[in-house]
Amino acid sequence: MTTSGAADGLAGPSGALAIPRRALAIGAHPDDIEFGAGATLAKWAASGCELVHVVCTDGSKGTWDPDEDLARLVVTRQREQRDASRALGGTGEVVFLGWPDGELESGIRQRYEIAAVIRRFRPDVVLGHDPWRRYRLHPDHRHAGFLTVDGVVAARDPHFFPEMALPHHRPSALLLFEADEPDHVEDVSGFAEAKISALLAHRSQLRSTMGVDDPGADHQVKAFREEVLGTLADQGGLAGLVQGEAFKAITDL
Ligand SMILES: [Zn+2]
Repeated sequence: MTTSGAADGLAGPSGALAIPRRALAIGAHPDDIEFGAGATLAKWAASGCELVHVVCTDGSKGTWDPDEDLARLVVTRQREQRDASRALGGTGEVVFLGWPDGELESGIRQRYEIAAVIRRFRPDVVLGHDPWRRYRLHPDHRHAGFLTVDGVVAARDPHFFPEMALPHHRPSALLLFEADEPDHVEDVSGFAEAKISALLAHRSQLRSTMGVDDPGADHQVKAFREEVLGTLADQGGLAGLVQGEAFKAITDL
């Protein structure tokens, strides 16, 4: 288990990660990145890291209302995702790949798109879903995880997608959130509130994902906050930290 606090300057023998200059996070849906790595991204942004969000699907199934206007929901969720990025300290830079929610595949076309954004933004660190997490039900999360891993490989090797006309790029680290076997914890003490604010920016998801039927219902918002804080405490506890986010770290890219 390795840990990385804000004070860590360089990747050393402990495996601690330096604050990246640019981090690119890939999620299946709007809100996945905030759940998986929001506090880590907020910590890095506070130290000057540029954040780029990549959302693979259009989020058009993120409602329990059978009569919802889905075209409007897609636009709403894009706005919410930009707000969430800003709540983490980012500029709101979000790439929406727009694949239909629930129907994401990890084929060659999707891999091309992920490799292209990695080559375009040239991040030091890429983050995404762990595709190898056991008993994961949602297919989009599995596929987004495989796209993250496969996209890094395609972006780093010069002979992949020669028609892309973008120079190849090798990130220095890949962090997989919701990890099946976490081996790296980022110390996120002080950044829980940014994560919670970013999650609450996904207002259309309060009911279906966060258990908040009414944003004015303080006890429901409080219960959600406690849930997030409990997860940060649990993951931090893996490395003896008060609050942390746990990842599978792959640094031999
Ligand atoms: Zn999701």
